[in-house]
Amino acid sequence: MLIVMKQNATPEQVEAVVERIRSLGLTPHAIPGAQRTAIGITGNKGGLEGSPFEGLPGVGEVLRVSQPFKLVSREVQPEDTVIDVGGVQLGGKAIVVMAGPCSVESREQLLAAAHAVKSAGARFLRGGAFKPRTSPYEFQGLGEAGLKLLAEAREQTGLKVVTEVMDPDDLSMCVEYADVLQLGARNMQNFSLLKKLGGVKKPILLKRGPSATIREWLMAAEYVLAHGNNQVALCERGIRTFETATRNTLDLNAVPVLKALTHLPVVVDPSHGIGIRAHVPAMARAGIAAGADAIIVEVHPRPEQALSDGQQSLTPTEFEELMRQVRIIAGAIGRAIG
Ligand code: PEP
Ligand code: MN
Repeated sequence: MLIVMKQNATPEQVEAVVERIRSLGLTPHAIPGAQRTAIGITGNKGGLEGSPFEGLPGVGEVLRVSQPFKLVSREVQPEDTVIDVGGVQLGGKAIVVMAGPCSVESREQLLAAAHAVKSAGARFLRGGAFKPRTSPYEFQGLGEAGLKLLAEAREQTGLKVVTEVMDPDDLSMCVEYADVLQLGARNMQNFSLLKKLGGVKKPILLKRGPSATIREWLMAAEYVLAHGNNQVALCERGIRTFETATRNTLDLNAVPVLKALTHLPVVVDPSHGIGIRAHVPAMARAGIAAGADAIIVEVHPRPEQALSDGQQSLTPTEFEELMRQVRIIAGAIGRAIG
């Protein structure tokens, strides 16, 4: 349910509506908007009896939200969400590039990657300190030592840091070091973690589960918003299909579909999406052409020595060439790389 206040509604009238919502045992969510004040309502099962908001002073319209996801939907918030990450805007007109190694491996490796992606024009440094590996015998990440290296790289380059949180026990530590918290594909439906991310004051990069439908993915995002954090970006990173020629199938259909259904920024990860270094640039270009607000690309100073995902990591030289190409694609669709 959505209450759209009249344009000239006073703050007292908005407050009275919020109070009425609470008095019914429901949860109000203020929806920021340039043109109008709207208040989303969650907690009701089905329609509300007896139009309890109709006729309250300042109320313009009372709308039923037809989608199962509410706060993330365009019905509730027609304007795009623009996430401000310390001056870098995610979801605005400019397209943002995030890049860096799959895993933080060493000081030397991370700083080399950070300086390379910075000088090529990336705004975010990616790098995992906690790694969700298929095998328990593979490199699991440096943990807090890795987070400290990410902070040092940010200090040296001015890049924003995006890094994955895997375990609720590590959440406060990750919040301390990261500018954006990544929730990995394997955790997309970890509902207790999603609820906890609703309580943090950092933006969330929510990756699509390998077998999640778009609706399930939006419902996962809804958990974060419903628990208080509306700074969520959605990252398409490929889904599992019958195809074995590529690591995953990058579902670029999701980009325009999401853009129509939700106001949240959309990010494309061509590295995990295809999993083959030689083909990452093509899918990065395609992601931007499809309308992504950002791309996230794995870059390693020496991919052949990487402790994870070397087969899909670009060298700094390849990344520089990709940046040249994506600037042209962005220009062709009336955007720029920010
Ligand atoms: C990663 O970003 O390195 C990663 C593990 O991604 P995903 O969760 O999409 O597999
Ligand atoms: Mn990876």
